Amino acid sequence: MSADSDATPLAIVFLDGLSARRRPARAEVDGGQLVLIGEDGPLASWPRADIRRLEAPDGLLRLGLADAAQLARIEADDPAVQSRLAALCPGLDRSMRDERRAVPRIILWSLAAALSLVLTAVLLVPLVADRLAPLVPLSWERRLGAAVDNQVRAVFSGKVCGAPAGKAALALLMGRIEAAAGLGRPLKVEVLSNSIPNAFALPGDRIYLMEGLLAKARNPDEIAGVIAHEIGHAAHRDALRRLLQSGGTSFLLGLLFGDVTGSGIVILLGRQILDSSYSRDAETAADAYAGRIMAGLGRPAAPMAELLVRLTGEEDRRYGLLRSHPFSQDRLSRLRSASPRQDGAPLLSDDQWQALRGICSSQG
Ligand SMILES: [Zn+2]
Repeated sequence: MSADSDATPLAIVFLDGLSARRRPARAEVDGGQLVLIGEDGPLASWPRADIRRLEAPDGLLRLGLADAAQLARIEADDPAVQSRLAALCPGLDRSMRDERRAVPRIILWSLAAALSLVLTAVLLVPLVADRLAPLVPLSWERRLGAAVDNQVRAVFSGKVCGAPAGKAALALLMGRIEAAAGLGRPLKVEVLSNSIPNAFALPGDRIYLMEGLLAKARNPDEIAGVIAHEIGHAAHRDALRRLLQSGGTSFLLGLLFGDVTGSGIVILLGRQILDSSYSRDAETAADAYAGRIMAGLGRPAAPMAELLVRLTGEEDRRYGLLRSHPFSQDRLSRLRSASPRQDGAPLLSDDQWQALRGICSSQG
């Protein structure tokens, strides 16, 4: 049974606490969490038990988190929404009693909050990146992705391939994969003219395939599996998490000040984000995601792993998927069992497959 049986959206206004911007949003219950969703996607996820009532003018309900370091607020002026929100937040009025009793504690809390922000920025960012990543608004992640994107193209000295027939085949393939993935956000998938056999996801739902990977692939299932795996990284926001981990303090500050685009920070990170590896857990989760997509398409998930095996045999270890996607026998056997049903139609016809592989040829 849902905690909030009324199906009418809980319309609220979201304030991030850093700017004066008031965003229309809605709140949704997800277990013990209250998920705040803006026009561009999720803004934050608050533990319901930690939500407190804040000072507000008459007739307005203003809520925030008990943790003083959390600056975000939500507001509701509709009495019906107010009473539903109140019913969803068991600790709503706890802070009011505490505040009345111990005003000086607020000052201590503020100092503690400031100290914890500094400590977080300096020492703990790599450790808390896992927890920060889901809180970064998708709109920020997209801006960040656009900034990193320029660096990536420079690093690979590659151009985006656009032979019309190849683009059409890629669009067709992506249409089928995205329908099976059901990510709910548009993905940007492009092929870079570069002989390195690689594929990667950038923050902001951008995925790149290298021409070299298409050249090594033997069938659409292999490429579809790789793309599905990268969508898994995008869905889990792994690229953002990795950027948070590797960027540390300077990255966090740049993000807070909203001035990432064009800053030197990203110049440093463009290369780093491609060189560092995801964790084994992130890879396992992306494989599982790919397995679900391929199963949904009725196609085998193992060809992606077989492509990696071939590359392991062929390619220098300096490059490519081998480094960013450490391969293991475990992954192969898990992918083999991920998609037992293989009765789906081929993802591309032979002609379409050849067109995709030729997407970087100037003839089109
Ligand atoms: Zn991966």
